[in-house]
Amino acid sequence: MRKIANFASAIDAQNAVLYLLEHGVVARVHIPLGDAQFYRLKPGQMGAMEVHLADEREREVAEALIAEWRALPAVDHGWDEQAEADLSRLDPAITITCAACRAELPRAPGAIDGTCPACAEPYDLLERVVTQHGPEALDACYPEPAPIVPEHVAIPAPVPCPTCSYALADLPVIGRCPECGRDYDKLAIIRAYVLGEGS
Ligand SMILES: [Zn+2]
Ligand SMILES: [Zn+2]
Repeated sequence: MRKIANFASAIDAQNAVLYLLEHGVVARVHIPLGDAQFYRLKPGQMGAMEVHLADEREREVAEALIAEWRALPAVDHGWDEQAEADLSRLDPAITITCAACRAELPRAPGAIDGTCPACAEPYDLLERVVTQHGPEALDACYPEPAPIVPEHVAIPAPVPCPTCSYALADLPVIGRCPECGRDYDKLAIIRAYVLGEGS
């Protein structure tokens, strides 16, 4: 466990991670329970989000940065647009039906909930899409994710060498580990970690 902080919403957790990345600390959002994609649906309702550190040695710095971030006035980091699914981008071939009576639900622009025109049962369109077609059906509804970390952040970042865990701070993005002599690619290490592919 490399948990560094808890957040009430996915947006706060993502923004805190972005703040850490901007300051050269590699971290990611960790969802204690549930599908990794589901958090994008209802950011305020998923309970505790955790932020995890790639490298335990950065804990002190990361804690200070998180405290700094919490003290900032709410800033638009550009990530919160991911919170809202744009259902107009949904595959037109997908049908969404009422859970109660199976009538097809209307897909009016901007309307993400309402009551079924056939049986008056309330519905949540995002919930219906995920239930009927899986969270991947919503992939087209979100903007392309921002690049994870720019080079000027990756160079000073003390990411651990994948072979020997040596902290590769202030070394080129692609190079050879001075400790064990193996090749590394910092962007690949960071990408794997932030996307949850690493350990
Ligand atoms: Zn109905
Ligand atoms: Zn190494």
